[in-house]
Amino acid sequence: MPELPEVESICRMLRARIVGRTVSAVNVSLPRIIRRGRLSDIVGFKIERVFRRGKFICFNLSGGLMMFAHLRMTGTFLWRDDLTERPSHLRAEVEFGDHCLFYRDIRTLGGIWVAKDGFTPWKRLGIDPFDAGFSARELQSRFQGRRIAVKQALLDQSIVAGIGNIYASEALFEAGIHPARTAGSLGLQELKRLRNAMIDILSAAVESGGTTFRDFRLSDGRDGAFQDFLKIYAKEGEPCPGCSGLIKRLVQGGRSTYYCPGCQH
Ligand SMILES: [Zn+2]
Repeated sequence: MPELPEVESICRMLRARIVGRTVSAVNVSLPRIIRRGRLSDIVGFKIERVFRRGKFICFNLSGGLMMFAHLRMTGTFLWRDDLTERPSHLRAEVEFGDHCLFYRDIRTLGGIWVAKDGFTPWKRLGIDPFDAGFSARELQSRFQGRRIAVKQALLDQSIVAGIGNIYASEALFEAGIHPARTAGSLGLQELKRLRNAMIDILSAAVESGGTTFRDFRLSDGRDGAFQDFLKIYAKEGEPCPGCSGLIKRLVQGGRSTYYCPGCQH
């Protein structure tokens, strides 16, 4: 599932390709992928800005129009200059003259929203780890009094936006914090370590995703190169890179969490 670094990589690709271009035509193959508004409303308008909020991709268009996309499990955008070669699982397309942006989604859990009235597809979206205000104290105020496990708190998009299963496990390992600790029990020093670990890991992953996305886009569906950065995720039974003890797995909220009992407390 795409998390913040993958979505950021896609945003960068989109920014480089479509900002300044005007939508010449659209086509929707699966109407329910358009969650709000009509995709045809963006025809004739220019893409002015592409940015990310959590895992949402946001498009500012001329005329005060907004478009939002969420990739969920298997959504992705493909940029092609050959309009005749159509990818499988194509759900919607946005044409820019001789180029086309394809929205491909195998499981069709993703969505696209079109709005001209200040609507946003999220209700409460937590702080983005790349926001300037993302500090240990900010995390402390968001975690205060929370009795849920810190791993669960990191996955809650209304607390912190953009983190998924992989990066939550990795950040907690890097910070030496046990994933089952309650969020409200973490001290400021621990939160500083956690905050720094999140920024470091996400930044490295964005850099790697930035170079990987080309492959992803061309070959359709390969995992990113950030796999090479992972120290603990999906490595149950392998030696911990910190202490050589064995990495363990536990299930929280139906999702696997990987951790090292020797290094995380
Ligand atoms: Zn260890």
